[in-house]
Amino acid sequence: MADQHNQVFFPSTMPELFSAWNRFPDAVPFAGGVELLRNQGKHVLTLPQNILSLEGLDELHRVTRTERYLETGAMVKISEIIRLGKIVPEALTQSLSNIANLGLRNLITIGGNICNPVCRLDAAAPLIALDARYELRTAYETRWVSASRFSALPGPLALRPQELLTRIRIPLEEWQYSLYRKFEESGGGAVFMARIQKNILTDLRIVFAGQQVLRDRNCETSLVGKQLPLDRREAVHFMELWETFLAAVEIPGFMLRAKLLNFVESCILSLSD
Ligand SMILES: Cc1cc2nc3c(=O)[nH]c(=O)nc-3n(C[C@H](O)[C@H](O)[C@H](O)COP(=O)(O)OP(=O)(O)OC[C@H]3O[C@@H](n4cnc5c(N)ncnc54)[C@H](O)[C@@H]3O)c2cc1C
Repeated sequence: MADQHNQVFFPSTMPELFSAWNRFPDAVPFAGGVELLRNQGKHVLTLPQNILSLEGLDELHRVTRTERYLETGAMVKISEIIRLGKIVPEALTQSLSNIANLGLRNLITIGGNICNPVCRLDAAAPLIALDARYELRTAYETRWVSASRFSALPGPLALRPQELLTRIRIPLEEWQYSLYRKFEESGGGAVFMARIQKNILTDLRIVFAGQQVLRDRNCETSLVGKQLPLDRREAVHFMELWETFLAAVEIPGFMLRAKLLNFVESCILSLSD
């Protein structure tokens, strides 16, 4: 019979991690521990029976950069990513800077934020908009999944049993306009990004992530190729498309819909004359 005591494993290599996970399939990865220890004011903590600490896995703490990508290990802390400075896409820096407070940003890992099973957190919207990809590993295979597929809702995260998020690959394309807005009361956050070349809008991304993930690619492409500043009619037509899109999806609460419309409208107006 299995031992009923709590066990914490401290693997220092991936084979050690997967060997422990194989023996204890219910074991739960422990990154910064902020979610796992949330709301535990009691003397005795309530923890999963078997825990896999990710702290000792060096490769999960690495940050590398190529000409086209920034790659961070899943155990890199939110504050470490912010401290990387200008190489980090602005939309991501803005969203990460909105997470909790400095003390918690020193504990929360990018992987823990992405893998939170409860809802999509602050890092989700910009990583989807930036076309980030996630490396997922089991004992037997490694696969890459897009941030949008990984975090899609409804449904759980695209994590298989005994699968670990190991790396986050973020394309380093230039976005001339990036804005992240967190909706404190209704929850979630939205990102608006625009690429502009020679006064032409060449790419546009608008993503909301929270209890839902909202994105309308038709809306985005409707403005691609337009000369800036946008004329009023184009801006109004775009907002009509966005309203139609939002009307077609079920969004709990009137406030979130109103705030989203307001956010997108203010971004579009800043690109108009
Ligand atoms: C007071 C407070 C304020 C907060 N404010 C914000 C906020 O403003 N914005 C925001 O976005 N979040 C906020 N959070 C939530 C926080 O970002 C999440 O709790 C996050 O999941 C914590 O990350 P962690 O590294 O501590 O993960 P952990 O608590 O260690 O793990 C979280 C979950 O992810 C799983 N996991 C972790 N790493 C991996 C991995 N590499 N592969 C597979 N699964 C993994 C764990 O098993 C667990 O289920 C707040 C939390 C608290 C307690």
